[in-house]
Amino acid sequence: MQVENFDVVIQGGGPVGLACTAWYLQKFPDAKILLLDRNPVDDADLTAADTRGVALSHGSKLLLDTINAWPSECADIHRVHVSQAGRFGRALMTREELKQEALGHIIRYRDIHFTLRSALRAIQSQSPNFVWRHIDSNTDMNSIQAKCIVHAEGGLFKTQDWVETGRDYEQSALVGLVEVENAQPHQAWERFTSEGPLAVLPSHYGPNILNLVWCGSPISSKTRLKLSDADFLKSLQAEFGSRIGQFLKIQDRRLYELGLNYRKNITQGNEVWIGNAAQTLHPVAGQGLNLGLRDAYLLAEKLSALFSKSEDQKTAVAIEATLQEYASSRKVDRTATIGLTDFMARIFTANLFPIVIGRGLALSALQWLPPVKTALARQMMFGRR
Ligand SMILES: Cc1cc2nc3c(=O)[nH]c(=O)nc-3n(C[C@H](O)[C@H](O)[C@H](O)COP(=O)(O)OP(=O)(O)OC[C@H]3O[C@@H](n4cnc5c(N)ncnc54)[C@H](O)[C@@H]3O)c2cc1C
Repeated sequence: MQVENFDVVIQGGGPVGLACTAWYLQKFPDAKILLLDRNPVDDADLTAADTRGVALSHGSKLLLDTINAWPSECADIHRVHVSQAGRFGRALMTREELKQEALGHIIRYRDIHFTLRSALRAIQSQSPNFVWRHIDSNTDMNSIQAKCIVHAEGGLFKTQDWVETGRDYEQSALVGLVEVENAQPHQAWERFTSEGPLAVLPSHYGPNILNLVWCGSPISSKTRLKLSDADFLKSLQAEFGSRIGQFLKIQDRRLYELGLNYRKNITQGNEVWIGNAAQTLHPVAGQGLNLGLRDAYLLAEKLSALFSKSEDQKTAVAIEATLQEYASSRKVDRTATIGLTDFMARIFTANLFPIVIGRGLALSALQWLPPVKTALARQMMFGRR
């Protein structure tokens, strides 16, 4: 058996694994690196890929721009309106008050995936020692040896073969594309219902075609999935109200189970976990991929600095120390983002009277205390470094 030796193996060709590989190669084109990708070689075979709209922050846009991986089809968010169904308390955030070009951008998961694949192909042509291997369950891994292994296998809550620390919110997200009568362009709505958050977000298809993310109990979500289009629209209208007129059409309904699953230790020896392989979050704050991209960027920075050194400096001790340094540098951002998302997922689904009143007050406080609003928005847009 012929053994293949690499400095780094990245396992997982989702957005986080692709971005990490691209940033690493951009900083160190001669890197001896292997990307193990379970997805098909040809983009055309990914046509059934995930069409759900994902909110990427402006910070993520700036990072992806550095490798020309920003999708052309995207909708910018200029205002976010947050409220609770049938209760007091609301907050409005605008790009003007936060002095940003946009508060966020909505892009289909598949477009992020495609754009990163083509950005990596462009970088591949300048990277003589990079191997991008498409694998399946029959691929023999025993012949591969690496000094450092990066896990970017991602996955969704309840589909992951590891469960470490976390919480089952007993919620599912029903996503789809909904057509409405009269939406304001570039406006996002987040409404907290008795069963969970309901978000209506812009899409690149036009101002009246919006991305829906409706979180509810697994049983109600399954029932909503099976409703006829007319009944579904009626029940959505009842929950959301008439702010954007009538809900006219629903397409491409899909269900995702939601929960929190995260590793306390993201490194072990010469192995490191990033993106959803390190932490899987509730989508309430739209942070999972944003956090994963920051993981990928900072890890690529650390690994390229180490592996571009001379052979005698890439010892097992140096690799382990670099990964530990990486883990320490991610601690504040991970803790803040996981904590904020978990807090929002729990507080906005509780129905106890004091909590309902408290969150009305919290939303009002957010509205009337600009420094709190700016601090929260900055954390969600750029994370912490
Ligand atoms: C309903 C919903 C809405 C969301 N909304 C947002 C949002 O608005 N904003 C946001 O930032 N995040 C959002 N997220 C989270 C976001 O989708 C994830 O954080 C992101 O997809 C993680 O990327 P990843 O590359 O780590 O993992 P994945 O996207 O899961 O990709 C992992 C890849 O690795 C492959 N793989 C798996 N095992 C192996 C293996 N053994 N070897 C090789 N390859 C392997 C898989 O095939 C896959 O292609 C949302 C999630 C859900 C469920």
